[in-house]
Amino acid sequence: MSEQYEQTLAGRVALVTGASRGIGAAVAQAYARAGAHVVLMARNIKALEKLDDQIQGQGGKTTLVPLDLLDHDKIDTLGPALAEKFGRLDIFVGNAGMLGTLGPLAHTKANDWDRVIALNLSANFRLLRTLDPLLRASDAGRVIFVSSGAAEGYRAYWGAYAASKAGLESLARTYKAETDKTNIRVNILDPGRVRTAMRAEAFPGEDPEMLATPDYIVNTFLDLANPSCTRHGERVKAQG
Ligand code: NDP
Repeated sequence: MSEQYEQTLAGRVALVTGASRGIGAAVAQAYARAGAHVVLMARNIKALEKLDDQIQGQGGKTTLVPLDLLDHDKIDTLGPALAEKFGRLDIFVGNAGMLGTLGPLAHTKANDWDRVIALNLSANFRLLRTLDPLLRASDAGRVIFVSSGAAEGYRAYWGAYAASKAGLESLARTYKAETDKTNIRVNILDPGRVRTAMRAEAFPGEDPEMLATPDYIVNTFLDLANPSCTRHGERVKAQG
């Protein structure tokens, strides 16, 4: 890619979930600019192909993996497939997420609750389980789980989303404890208020111009993915 970018991730293999738009697409582009081979994952094939064209047009390297992360059994096939192609995974960004229908807990449909937990929490468990051997095979495996301030659960009507992100943070801390003596470093990233489709869905009346763009926050993702990053088990707020 363009020489104006520092090749801090040259030769690294990165998987970014939810890469078709929003924060994930910006992170995928930034990693590719920094020299990583980026595995782009989401459901929307057209959007993935568009991003793929952009990245490859600038000399970046990508692999497309169209996948519905609610299909947990298919997630289990990912590790072996990536093992065959790359033999290792250096960076895993668990970014894909959904808001679900906001409303009082007592009025939340069980199916809505289940889908939010299945995507934001359980899919990340299944990803971690299948990717763990590949992360251990890296000389500096870096795992970043994208959480939210909502994980604290202080907001009315955000029950499923808040619980899913709180669970995700607990998953991340557990994996941290299990990898203390390895080359893997695991961190939680809270992106703050970012101008994306999800944010517009959550706060339709908000002026998007007041929000950070996804490109503005990618430096924090770059820092946590770097082989020299020593942070482990931290909850990091995105910085511009
Ligand atoms: P977007 O809605 O813009 O993007 C969500 C991404 O997740 C898309 O790429 C979407 O791709 C993917 N995704 C959704 N459902 C599935 C599925 N079933 N299988 C595979 N991929 C799926 O949201 P953001 O970029 O804003 O959010 C990214 C992360 O940041 C989320 O985890 C969110 O909770 C978190 N976050 C965002 C904040 C913000 O202000 N924007 C604030 C705090 C946290 P596709 O539809 O193609 O499958």
